[in-house]
Amino acid sequence: MIKLELHWKIIIGLVLGLMFGVLAATQGWGAFVSNWVSPFGKIFISLLKLIAVPLVLSSLITGVASLSDLKKLSRIGGRTISIYIVTTAIAVTIGLLSVNILQPGTTVPDEMKTKLQNTYQSSVTGRVEAAEQVKERSALQPIVDMVPSNFFNSASNNRNMLQVVFVAIIIGIALIQIKKEKAKPVLDFFEGINELVIKLVDNIMLIAPYGVFALIADTITSIAGKNISNVLELLGALAFYMFAVIIGLLFQTLFTYSLVLKLFSKMSFKKFYQGLAPAQILAFSTSSSGATLPVTMERCEEELGVSEEVSSFVLPLGATINMDGTALYQAVAAVFIAQTIGMDLGLGAQLTIVLTAVLASIGTAAVPGAGVIMLVIILEAISVPSAGIALILGVDRILDMLRTVTNVTGDASVAVAVASSEGELKN
Ligand code: ASP
Repeated sequence: MIKLELHWKIIIGLVLGLMFGVLAATQGWGAFVSNWVSPFGKIFISLLKLIAVPLVLSSLITGVASLSDLKKLSRIGGRTISIYIVTTAIAVTIGLLSVNILQPGTTVPDEMKTKLQNTYQSSVTGRVEAAEQVKERSALQPIVDMVPSNFFNSASNNRNMLQVVFVAIIIGIALIQIKKEKAKPVLDFFEGINELVIKLVDNIMLIAPYGVFALIADTITSIAGKNISNVLELLGALAFYMFAVIIGLLFQTLFTYSLVLKLFSKMSFKKFYQGLAPAQILAFSTSSSGATLPVTMERCEEELGVSEEVSSFVLPLGATINMDGTALYQAVAAVFIAQTIGMDLGLGAQLTIVLTAVLASIGTAAVPGAGVIMLVIILEAISVPSAGIALILGVDRILDMLRTVTNVTGDASVAVAVASSEGELKN
């Protein structure tokens, strides 16, 4: 028998999941899928999330502790954050160009607008309330939130990944400062844990094709709901909007990241995408850069040759704060909603979008559907009624899957860039 490489197996899982999902949706097998198929997807995601905290903790502690000097840490940090911000700003600009040139908001028929507003009205309220909570926080709150008062609290929730990153960094630094013989057993322990977690990632990935199959089939049947013709009508009406987002994401993924790779490293486009493919497929199927993180780290280290020191710092940070796909989507969605309700956005408003989208994407959690909550804040900043998100909620899950792929690809390209500029790119 031919031995297929893992990424081919995952692709087969994805395609079969798509086909089965469409079949199940048209045959009305929704209940069967949610009772008997989707639990396997949930188990797979839980396994990935389960190892995220120990992986980040152990690899970052050993990574920082192996740095010869702390100057290097601040250099890597500065470089990483600068490239993250620049690539996100480029993403938003691409989104704005796409939506202003294509003008998708002018194509939605009036009766569809009313229908969408009515159908999704109730779902809007929850998102607006969630956004209000975010908005009430002070400007420095994200920094305050980064410092935990109890480590076990942080480790008990994957949403607190930045706290885990923070703790790992200060432990790593202190390990450099204490006597070598005292530091050694601690370091040995974390190195052992690190090896162990990497093996766990490998083992969990063995079931990835089945997990991906279940996740995709479940997503399709839940999007289709009870009436698949409604979905087709929705997709038709919002096709142009989706096109504007997708073309932007493609441009960012193919053009901006190639540029990053070219500017900072010698890695070929082909090698990068081939190495990263399983992580991208997983991002697509889970819609969560947080759940994908263990695999992104593994692929970057083992296939792309990024040193553990760099990947363990750049990638967890990226998964939480660097969301180019989300920022691009938010820009397109904000302008699309304004266009649909007949509001003309001037240059000032568009510049406000650039600024708020960059900040909002930093604050977006790495979980499904988080981007649309932060979109409310952008809409308020440019005085577009937030109820307008009803227009786009119906297709949000599909775009979420795609923007998450861009988010993960962006993080990996920066990991390669930073590793290469530090002379830490093997191969
Ligand atoms: N699902 C995205 C992620 O995890 C965030 C979002 O845009 O909703 O990267």
